[in-house]
Amino acid sequence: MKEKILLYFLLISFSCFSQTGKLTGKLILKDPENYKKVLENTYIILKTSIKTDSIKVDSDLRFAFEDVKAEEKIKIFISPRTYPINICYTLALKENEIENIEIPYTSTCPYSKDRNNVCPICSKNDKVLPIVYGFTAGISYKDKDGNPTDKNGKIISKEENEKVKYISGGCIVSDCQPTWFCQRDKLNF
Ligand SMILES: [Zn+2]
Repeated sequence: MKEKILLYFLLISFSCFSQTGKLTGKLILKDPENYKKVLENTYIILKTSIKTDSIKVDSDLRFAFEDVKAEEKIKIFISPRTYPINICYTLALKENEIENIEIPYTSTCPYSKDRNNVCPICSKNDKVLPIVYGFTAGISYKDKDGNPTDKNGKIISKEENEKVKYISGGCIVSDCQPTWFCQRDKLNF
């Protein structure tokens, strides 16, 4: 009996002293042409160590979570994911705090896999280099006298030999990444 009373007391004190805050936010849509689709399909997901909540965005693409437990790590995701990298936000609220966050959101991958090498800004391809992913090593060719050549054995100038032929995209390969880089506009596409 004594234990039961103690447990009851603990439960009451837990609910009395469990402090909360409020989290509000807004998606900053980077592809506004997809607004309608985003409005219809997009949920904000809030995850703590004990529960998961989800809320659909309103017509301003805003959302609000009331009574979020304070002093606890929470994670915010967006469903469907945001592009090009799926970002997860981690934060913790203080007691009675109202936190407002603005989340940049792109609903589709901005890089098309079948796009040709014409830069969308300057509409040219003379300064466009392929982006190579994974492990890359420079390959150079020489003839028997040590002159730099191209891969077909034709002698090329020193400048030509030292020219950058591709951009390394790093080793992490994702399902949404650019394939070309325009040196003129410093643009990945
Ligand atoms: Zn360009």
